[in-house]
Amino acid sequence: MSVGLTGHAEWDRIKKRLRAELGEDVFTSWFARVDLEALGDGVVHLSVPTRFLKNWLQSRYRDRLMGLCQDEFGGVQQIEFTVRSAIRPRGPGAPEAWTSPAPQGVAVDHRQIKVPLAQAARLVLDGPAPTSEIRLDDALVGSPLDPRYTFASFVEGRSNSFALAAARRVAESRPGESVGFNPLFVHAAVGLGKTHLLQAIARAAKDAGRRVLYLTAEHFMYRFVSALKAQSAIAFKENLRGIDLLLIDDMQFLQGRQIQQEFCHTLNSLIDGSRQVVVAADRPPVELETLDERVRSRLGGGLLVEIAAPDFDLRRAIVSNRVVAARRLFPTLAVSEAVIDFVAENVTSSGRDLDGAVNRLAAHAQFSGEPVGIETAETALRDLLRVREARRVKIEDIQRAVCKQYNVSKADLLSSRRTRTVVRPRQIAMYLSKTLTPRSLPEIGRRFGNRDHTTVLHAVRKIEDMIKTDRGFADEVEVLKRQIDS
Ligand code: ADP
Ligand code: MG
Repeated sequence: MSVGLTGHAEWDRIKKRLRAELGEDVFTSWFARVDLEALGDGVVHLSVPTRFLKNWLQSRYRDRLMGLCQDEFGGVQQIEFTVRSAIRPRGPGAPEAWTSPAPQGVAVDHRQIKVPLAQAARLVLDGPAPTSEIRLDDALVGSPLDPRYTFASFVEGRSNSFALAAARRVAESRPGESVGFNPLFVHAAVGLGKTHLLQAIARAAKDAGRRVLYLTAEHFMYRFVSALKAQSAIAFKENLRGIDLLLIDDMQFLQGRQIQQEFCHTLNSLIDGSRQVVVAADRPPVELETLDERVRSRLGGGLLVEIAAPDFDLRRAIVSNRVVAARRLFPTLAVSEAVIDFVAENVTSSGRDLDGAVNRLAAHAQFSGEPVGIETAETALRDLLRVREARRVKIEDIQRAVCKQYNVSKADLLSSRRTRTVVRPRQIAMYLSKTLTPRSLPEIGRRFGNRDHTTVLHAVRKIEDMIKTDRGFADEVEVLKRQIDS
């Protein structure tokens, strides 16, 4: 091989030619991070940051690279790719996807100088993050309970009265007593009070001396995987089956075949042993497409209650209650009835936004020292509604980003072509559509060239598996996600 001292001048020329051929976007996506490591014995050694990139370049660009290397270096017979050590080391413990997001407000440091208004208010109003955990014994520790989520603070309205009655019934029953429905399955869109209600049940039952375990589905997965790693899975399962009341929140996030199987066993043995189970999710069991059929049917076999969107009266009552709670901390906080009406009329989406609105009002009042008028309310709410708008991801955005990243056309992405070069990007785009938007599997199928929902489900599972087993690939998807989210 006739190469320069190190071959870097030649490698630079190769990159220049690739950039000219492929265009800036494609070049940057695939080749900007490829480095020349060594040359010798007819082999060009290149390094890339991720395993995914290695596979991708090998399957799509090997021939082109070979041609260019032969032109520039001469006598090249082979190109070897190696993966540079992980760029983004992960801490020990759970995989990232399994850790719950920190409760809002936790990340705010008292000493921090610049705290956004709403966050500052939340910190002041809500106090430090809830830390109380339900401890049965060392093997079973529940997710933290928020001390504010009690029956006393839950406001009843037309949209939630049935769910509230069922929840009370469960909370008041004695161990082993049948309440006539098991499991209780509560479903509602985000922010309508599912977590509040489940935690209210957990707290009341715990105060009555029952063995209660409240877990988010993510925590359930994490606990189970930790137990497997520590080879204490049997003890974990036995402990699980020894409780009086199991509450699982955000069921839509339960993933993984083995975990679902385990969950199914737990569910069966608890229900068969007359122990009460309560589950909350953002949709009814039939629509939890990523769940195993058996889990779905067992979950659908009890009482299903939906919490609907709050009407004006309920919204007003929630706002009014929150203002009263805020006034306990800021006795001077003055919010007129007109402002409460204004908030209840304009924030229609969820309890979370109503809370956010009150927090903002309290923050404005605190920092300006003036009573809250309609004008302040308007500004505070405009911010709130704008933040919500900005966060919404569209399927088109995902398709566009994926097409760009993998250099495929949108027509190909939506076509019935099944070559490897379009199948994987298509699956990634479907997976991202499922995880970043609230769209259902059938709807996503329609948006991807009228595919069946089972095809979408297959894609979601496939990508989930790959993310779990291939860190390079996981990084690649993570990068895409960030591009789409920003
Ligand atoms: P979800 O779990 O359904 O997404 P949350 O239980 O987290 O909703 O509720 C979001 C916020 O709205 C919480 O602060 C909760 O206290 C409040 N909230 C929702 N519904 C009610 C209600 N009926 N009464 C009082 N607060 C409510
Ligand atoms: Mg919730």
